[in-house]
Amino acid sequence: MAHPWDNISEDEWEAICKRCGKCCLYSLQDEDSGEIYHTNVLCEYFDEERSLCTVYDKRCELKPECLKLTKDNVDKLPFMPKSCAYRKLFDASYKDVPTPSIKNRVIKETQINPEDIEDYIVDWEDL
Ligand code: SF4
Ligand code: SF4
Repeated sequence: MAHPWDNISEDEWEAICKRCGKCCLYSLQDEDSGEIYHTNVLCEYFDEERSLCTVYDKRCELKPECLKLTKDNVDKLPFMPKSCAYRKLFDASYKDVPTPSIKNRVIKETQINPEDIEDYIVDWEDL
């Protein structure tokens, strides 16, 4: 099946990202049910003020769990936020999901005890 992104260049692909940072929040997955839980715990490398990844070119090296989004995997990652610009592209049912900023709604991973991450599960409409 043809996708809207089939013929776009790498630069055009990158430009789709709104740099909202929602995919830089930790998600948890229930091992038994597979259910995804989003948290408001933000990767240490995301700069909330400037709304960007500060290590973008080296992100996969510095943060092994940081997945590079590609045209091949973008529609196969269940933890991607519903408000993600890429997700909206491939699933029209998400096109009206609001996209408020994460600013002042998150906490850096360096500020929490990783063992307590379940305490930070959130149920935002835009995640
Ligand atoms: S390394 Fe960058 S792109 Fe990856 S999760 Fe962290 S802030 Fe986001
Ligand atoms: S959630 Fe989507 S639009 Fe937002 S930063 Fe991640 S890839 Fe970009």
